[in-house]
Amino acid sequence: MTSGNKTNLLGMTRLQLEDFFASIGEKRFRASQLMKWVHQLGVSDFDQMTNMSKPLREKLKSVAEVCLPEVTYESTSSDGTRKWVMQMEGGSSIETVFIPDGDRGTLCVSSQIGCSLDCSFCSTGKQGFNRNLSAAEIVGQLWVAARAFGQQDVSKERSVTNVVFMGMGEPLLNFDNVVAACTVMMEDFAYGISKRRLTVSTAGLVPALDRLGDVTDVSLAVSLHAPNDTLRNELVPLNKKYPISELMTSCKNYLAKLPDKHRRATIEYTLIAGVNDSPELAHELVDLLKDVPCKVNLIPFNPFPQSNYQRPSRNAVMRFQKILSDAGYVTTIRTTRGDDIDAACGQLVGRVADKTRRSARYIDAVNVTGEESRL
Ligand code: SAH
Repeated sequence: MTSGNKTNLLGMTRLQLEDFFASIGEKRFRASQLMKWVHQLGVSDFDQMTNMSKPLREKLKSVAEVCLPEVTYESTSSDGTRKWVMQMEGGSSIETVFIPDGDRGTLCVSSQIGCSLDCSFCSTGKQGFNRNLSAAEIVGQLWVAARAFGQQDVSKERSVTNVVFMGMGEPLLNFDNVVAACTVMMEDFAYGISKRRLTVSTAGLVPALDRLGDVTDVSLAVSLHAPNDTLRNELVPLNKKYPISELMTSCKNYLAKLPDKHRRATIEYTLIAGVNDSPELAHELVDLLKDVPCKVNLIPFNPFPQSNYQRPSRNAVMRFQKILSDAGYVTTIRTTRGDDIDAACGQLVGRVADKTRRSARYIDAVNVTGEESRL
């Protein structure tokens, strides 16, 4: 977490900051003061932190910094969806998208630049894997969005109420940084996002999911996309390593570890015409999920240039939804937002500045953050 030889305080949890202050001979309570300045008041300049003494500010300046992401572009859609392109160290850019919906505002963040999983329907995987984002780079996406509406104090006026890790990358392959970033996002002295409104989405990295419940209790989304191993092996190659039965057990175990027994996972299912959208598969899904406490989110596929898949018809989507709803599952259909500013699923474009670059790729994901090579 350093940039140059200074420690970047942006992605540090309260505990890490307390240790940091102790290590420079200062009181641990400075950690919560610093968090309020940085995360709630948006102040990154130590000189403006007026409840810290002048000598302390000088000391901080010599050993630390609050290194923020560089926003290189931003735009707002006619439906209120907002998109930022942020340049990361090393030259790559990522995109972060904010989606307002009534009194809720959801921010979709990335955890990696690129992705190594190569799911067949996802454009992120087509460009390969570049690197993990640091905790600071993940938190930085929220820092930018949280104060984008001119708030003085984001603990009093909250535009971002929900955060989903559904942008680029597999969050559980960047375990420690994602957990640290979640801790900062949920911290009362920072953003105070509730654990129910903070969702980590995984393609099914079973061993990491088994560990996740030991260190946090955020909400869980599982990208399933198929009710049987033959089909899922084709769509999500990771399934060959961790098949559906193991994934479902791991998902149930995660939920069982949560103190609140009423919480459910979200099962994400990208619907692809003629591939996984038949009524038979919907019934198979009903059977598979019968002992998994969950709701289902259907995402009509967003086409991108290197893909031969098609989006299903509205009828096929409704038919699939009805079978699940009739079986008692709360089933939502993700709508396209922000397409006039290229912020909808499958439209996000970033830039990867290194050897992993390939041809143009569109980011999937729902809401979010994307990255793409256009070099
Ligand atoms: N690796 C994590 C987080 C990435 S979010 C995971 O797999 O959950 C990935 C989500 O984006 C997937 O659940 C999928 O539903 C969605 N997605 C990916 N490509 C898509 C596309 N072309 N069209 C629609 N949704 C897509």
